[in-house]
Amino acid sequence: MKSPVPDYLREVLDSLADNSDGAVADYIPDLKNANPDVFGIAVTTVDGRTHAVGDDETEFSIQSISKPFAYAAALTDRGFDAVANTVGVEPSGEAFNELSLEGESRRPKNPMINAGAIATHSLLGGSVDERVTKAVDFFSTLAGRRLSIDESVCRSEMDTADRNLAIAHMLRNYGIIDDEAHSIVEGYTSQCSINVTVRDLAVMGATLANAGVHPATGDQVVSRAVARQTLSVMAGAGMYDAAGHWLTRVGIPAKSGVAGGLLGALPGQAGVGVFSPRLDSHGNSVRGVKVFERLSDDMGLHLMEAEPYGSSVLRDIRVVDGELRVELQGVIQFTGAENILDALENDDSGAGTVVVDVSRVDRLSDVGRRMVLEGMRRLALDDRTVALIDPDGVLPDPDLGDGRFPEIR
Ligand code: GLU
Repeated sequence: MKSPVPDYLREVLDSLADNSDGAVADYIPDLKNANPDVFGIAVTTVDGRTHAVGDDETEFSIQSISKPFAYAAALTDRGFDAVANTVGVEPSGEAFNELSLEGESRRPKNPMINAGAIATHSLLGGSVDERVTKAVDFFSTLAGRRLSIDESVCRSEMDTADRNLAIAHMLRNYGIIDDEAHSIVEGYTSQCSINVTVRDLAVMGATLANAGVHPATGDQVVSRAVARQTLSVMAGAGMYDAAGHWLTRVGIPAKSGVAGGLLGALPGQAGVGVFSPRLDSHGNSVRGVKVFERLSDDMGLHLMEAEPYGSSVLRDIRVVDGELRVELQGVIQFTGAENILDALENDDSGAGTVVVDVSRVDRLSDVGRRMVLEGMRRLALDDRTVALIDPDGVLPDPDLGDGRFPEIR
């Protein structure tokens, strides 16, 4: 059997191929030369499978899609407090290149607008070369291949970077950055000029969606906390001044760039990369936005549309040979664990032994594990014998307190 997923993506691509609305960015002279018809889509699941259609090998400059990744790098290197002193997390509702800072603190409002991204770039630390090398290395690790800078796009943007220079001078004036304004903008512009493909974006997004674990290598590239923080800021401020509309209409944390790239990362599911250079009035890729609208609608990918999966973790609870057998399955988080505890509380079988079988459980979140163990501990306190079937060790160190452990079956 051939998977229908690529066929579906092909159908989405074909249905939008004739859409020539919008215009390529022209404020960076080199971007004017982009072929406006290029169009590619890639999706990488958190399991590491990539499906790509159209111009999936075409490189383009990452531009503002570099911002969430530079933010993730800064959080990793500097820690949350130091980053929070430099840049906020509030959606600004303003255009990407607004000369805006927060009232009292003078911090840029968030790392997704240029002011915040320029400040974030300075947190990468060191000389221009060191900052740029750090960005290229980090993005390459995320993409799973060596990335490089489009020097021509970079030079072309530097030639016309007055507005970003003005922002950098403003930041330096208020003590948000210490480095010399020109050097920071030079590094930031290089960071924006790193070339990627939609395949790169999809796998980079999938790493954020996968709690920081690279879906292909299994390496923890950024911490779970950094991935969560980055996705949160993308959800609130990733789509320029259309961020609120995007969150309600599409509901996928995302970031767009003026070259026409669009990155989405749906927590726990997938990363998506789209490239189509014609932009709408907000600076977002016209066809890119439409692809995401289709994916969100057709595939039920809206963040606010989560499935109620609590009850599905309790596969069976019944008395077998005088013992209460509790069979669990799937991924156990708070609601699932609450469901299990409720079933145990309402059990009136009177069985003296309770056998908890987690052989079909894929994973327990930290809270899921603590809640299930607490339930087992309370059963033991009620003088019931607790046994555990856990062939794959999904519930390691099942300490019930007071040095007691369940009987291992
Ligand atoms: N390098 C671009 C700039 O700073 C990025 C803008 C964008 O992609 O939104 O103007």
